[in-house]
Amino acid sequence: MRCARWRRVALELAGEAREKSAVTYIDRAVRCQLSAHDEGEHFGLLTDADAYGTALWLRWRGPDEAELVVLPDCPVAAPGPDGDGCRLFVDHTAQHTWEDALEEATCAS
Ligand SMILES: [Zn+2]
Ligand SMILES: [Zn+2]
Repeated sequence: MRCARWRRVALELAGEAREKSAVTYIDRAVRCQLSAHDEGEHFGLLTDADAYGTALWLRWRGPDEAELVVLPDCPVAAPGPDGDGCRLFVDHTAQHTWEDALEEATCAS
């Protein structure tokens, strides 16, 4: 299960994100990409167009604090020859995105 928190991207932050990443379009709101969690910070993906194994994330906790962070991609892929890569950042909390997908597949069968 994915975390269901959304966060509106403030105009200043969207502007800053465009400067940092050279993309011209930033979503007005982002959803936390972590698997469901009760505490800690939320992370919404702004753009991974940057390449070189990093992505630009919006990190927030309370209603008033949000900041841009550039984080290296999580290097852990699912086991097996065609294992999916994880779409999160290095040292994230909770599960890898492919663990979530595996769980959903198991539940559905
Ligand atoms: Zn979250
Ligand atoms: Zn991961």
